[in-house]
Amino acid sequence: MQLHILNSGSKGNCYLLESESEILIIEAGVKLSEVKKAIDFDLSKVVTCLCTHQHRDHSGYIEEFINSGITTLALDVVFISHLISPNSSYCKAIEPNHGYKVGNFKVYAFSVSHDIPCLGFTIDHPESGKILFLTDTMTCDYSFTGLNHILIECNYADSVLDANIKAGKAPPSMRHRLLSTHMELETTKKIISNQDITKVRNIVLIHLSDGNSNEKRFIEEIQAATGKPVSAAKKGMKLNFSLNPF
Ligand SMILES: [Zn+2]
Ligand SMILES: [Zn+2]
Repeated sequence: MQLHILNSGSKGNCYLLESESEILIIEAGVKLSEVKKAIDFDLSKVVTCLCTHQHRDHSGYIEEFINSGITTLALDVVFISHLISPNSSYCKAIEPNHGYKVGNFKVYAFSVSHDIPCLGFTIDHPESGKILFLTDTMTCDYSFTGLNHILIECNYADSVLDANIKAGKAPPSMRHRLLSTHMELETTKKIISNQDITKVRNIVLIHLSDGNSNEKRFIEEIQAATGKPVSAAKKGMKLNFSLNPF
């Protein structure tokens, strides 16, 4: 299994999980043409697209995906926000606390705390084991068992945000918005510490803020807190997400 990151952050999100014979897309936040290019224009391997919520950096191109025959799983409000009926072909409205099987991927959806309804996922596949996907949430109280890989938001650090507000680079109102919508470095650490990470092979930090993050520091601090390999998501990054690395 390979993780291929097409983009991550407020400008757009899209992550591909590519097995030998199947591809699962997470988020419809980049143009379909970019997805096609990344998978050699072979859409036949794509089993589904999962979309967490309706913000445009996650769902902006959902219509293109659906129109090209990619079955897309999302909350019904996500389809409705794009003026698409949730009953249309290639749309599957999903609900939190439910499991879904797509190809050999087993997906479990759960609610997270954003300013609009938003889902987190665990995604299980024989080639990768269990993957946690968590973004656009102020916190998460769940503990998951048997995780093998973690993709988790690490949006901003209080100290960087404070300095930006003092320097006039960010409006003071940003503090309030970020507090209730996105994950601060210490929150990311706390959520990871609530998980059994014994078998985790990869921690990938996603959705870093353009101005209020510090990639190098985030990687170092999470690595020190967990003792695991940590990466920060970058456009075009590919990571080995197999259950066994060899
Ligand atoms: Zn977002
Ligand atoms: Zn959002």
